[in-house]
Amino acid sequence: MGALRGITELTASFRGADVLVLCYHQIRSRERFVDQMAALSERGYSVLSLPQFTEWLNGASLPSRPAALLTFDHCYDEQLETALPVLDSLKFPATFFPASSDLACELPDVAAHWRKTLLELTKAGHAIGCHTHSHPDLTRLPTEEVRLEVLGSKLALEDALGQRVSTFCPRSRVRRGVHRGSRRGEVWG
Ligand SMILES: [Zn+2]
Repeated sequence: MGALRGITELTASFRGADVLVLCYHQIRSRERFVDQMAALSERGYSVLSLPQFTEWLNGASLPSRPAALLTFDHCYDEQLETALPVLDSLKFPATFFPASSDLACELPDVAAHWRKTLLELTKAGHAIGCHTHSHPDLTRLPTEEVRLEVLGSKLALEDALGQRVSTFCPRSRVRRGVHRGSRRGEVWG
C-alpha cells in the first residue's frame, strides 16, 4: 500500500473518530513520511499537542476537526534526523516516548547527549512521555519491578526535563492485566 493511499484509507476508515492517533516506530522512508504528513495537512487535520489531547480527554472541546495526535516510540535516531525536520517545517507537535535508561548511562557523554536531546525537543514544542526505564516485557515482571520501571522512568525524565511528565506508553503487546495493574501510574494527572 502506498503511503498516500495508506493515509487516505486510514483517514476514511476513521472519519468518525474524534482524534486520529498515529503511533510511529522506525521511520524507514523519509519520502513516505513526508507524504503522510502532507496528506494530514491537505485534509485539514489539526495536529494536537499532548496538552491539547489530554485536555480533550478531560472534557475540553477540540480546537478544530478533524484532529490527529502523532506519537513516536523510542526517539530513534531516524525519527530525530528524518521525521523531526518534517514535523517542525509543518509546525506539527509530536510526543516522543523514549526509554529513560540512556539518561542514566554510565558514559556521561551519552547521558548528557540524551538529556540535551530531550530538552531540545520540549523547547521546540514537542512532548516527552514515559516508555519504561529499560524497555522490558512488563508481562514477565513482578508487580514491584513493573512499578519501578514505570515510576523510575517518570522520575528520570522529570529530573532531566525539570518539568512534570504525565503520560505513559507501554511496550507493545502488553496484556490487559498489566494495563490494569499500572493504571494508577498511567493516570498521573
Ligand atoms: Zn518500545
